Amino acid sequence: GGFALNLKKLLEENIPPEGLELINTVGKTASLLGMRAFLVGGIVRDLLLGQKQKDLDFVVEGDALLLVKELGKNLPTLKLISHERFKTASIILKNGQKVDFATSRVEFYQYPAALPEVEASTIKEDLYRRDFTINSMALEITFGHIGELYDPFGGFADLQEGIIRVLHNLSFIEDPTRILRALRFLGRFNFKLEDNTESLLLDAVSSGLLELTSPGRILQEIKLFFAEKDIFKILKLLNHYGVYTEVFPKAHYEEEFLSRYFTFSFEFSRYLKEIKIPWLFGVIGIYAKNLTEISKFRKKYPLTREEEETLIKVTKGIGEALKLLPSPRDIKGHEIYETLKNLPPEGFWALYLLLDRYRAKVRFRQYLEELRFIKPKITGEDLKALGLKPGPLFREILNKIKALKIDGVLKEQKDEILYVRQNYLS
Ligand code: ATP
Repeated sequence: GGFALNLKKLLEENIPPEGLELINTVGKTASLLGMRAFLVGGIVRDLLLGQKQKDLDFVVEGDALLLVKELGKNLPTLKLISHERFKTASIILKNGQKVDFATSRVEFYQYPAALPEVEASTIKEDLYRRDFTINSMALEITFGHIGELYDPFGGFADLQEGIIRVLHNLSFIEDPTRILRALRFLGRFNFKLEDNTESLLLDAVSSGLLELTSPGRILQEIKLFFAEKDIFKILKLLNHYGVYTEVFPKAHYEEEFLSRYFTFSFEFSRYLKEIKIPWLFGVIGIYAKNLTEISKFRKKYPLTREEEETLIKVTKGIGEALKLLPSPRDIKGHEIYETLKNLPPEGFWALYLLLDRYRAKVRFRQYLEELRFIKPKITGEDLKALGLKPGPLFREILNKIKALKIDGVLKEQKDEILYVRQNYLS
């Protein structure tokens, strides 16, 4: 690796002024302390690709905690978080941007898929513990050296050729989540696996290494999948490399359906902003064709209570909707409402695609666009004014009125009041 390429210009053109100022300050502070400082990882890759910048990741050859302490004296930082044990620190800038600092380090794996032991080292060794060559480049920012690319493993060439390549043959064994990371980058950048990397990946898959990995770490990767633009492409890759059902146990891979699910229709996109847990919306699509198997997913991964409850409600809600909506009999609006009101928006799109009858789709649309917004005009206050005592009865009355409004029996506010008088006040 040499210092052939200088990316100072690229930095200046792609990083906002505040970030550049920070980079300069870090570079100066580091040299005063006799340390070398680098930007590393995704940011270097994305700079070279001309892609949008996210967070800044710095690595220093030296004590990152000491550097950050020094920096704190000169920077308008809001918050400083230090982790003594790992010699890492973060600062949060005024604009909310998070900036990470680490001491360059090596990691030792005691056994496959274990968490690594950590020890301070040179930048080269720090880069060597990383996942792929394209993520193993550093950009020096030490004062006087700003913009010098340090690329000991040929990341730049691989980036130009569009290749994902591991740094050594044990990479997937040390950390099987790299299997999933590889597929995510393949999908995102439309890259290819380098030949040796591909056979190492296939070996790792067939030796069942993902089974040894903590479900929590795999779940992290799953969430990252669903944050990608072209998730469908990644699912295809998961299937192609034989890890689809490892990641999504008992899920049914049906390409045509998945493609329809993940290439959202415009019509539906406006419901997407009601979705609270976007990645679960994705998981529901994966399991839509065999929804009851989603319980396998729930059992495998450490979900939060809210995530778990959403999945349970969606399974139940879609199941009930599929019984009611296609029915040939004449269904009242309030029946549709009562059945669908417990279905979280995470399940709307899956249900829509699962309904194959026109009539059923019309009914669901009616719920989405109209029924669920109908509310009684009168309120609890009006009921009090009519002389009723507040209590559980209020909810019952208001629900009843809502149902009658949905069915078109009650229309105006005076109809509602009359209804209350006749049925609850005699
Ligand atoms: P993204 O654009 O998806 O955020 P990134 O490369 O910035 O990509 P991060 O997960 O933020 O991804 O990781 C930052 C850097 O840390 C990576 O570029 C890589 O060098 C290293 N890294 C992350 N995860 C691993 C891993 N499992 N094994 C080895 N190195 C890793």
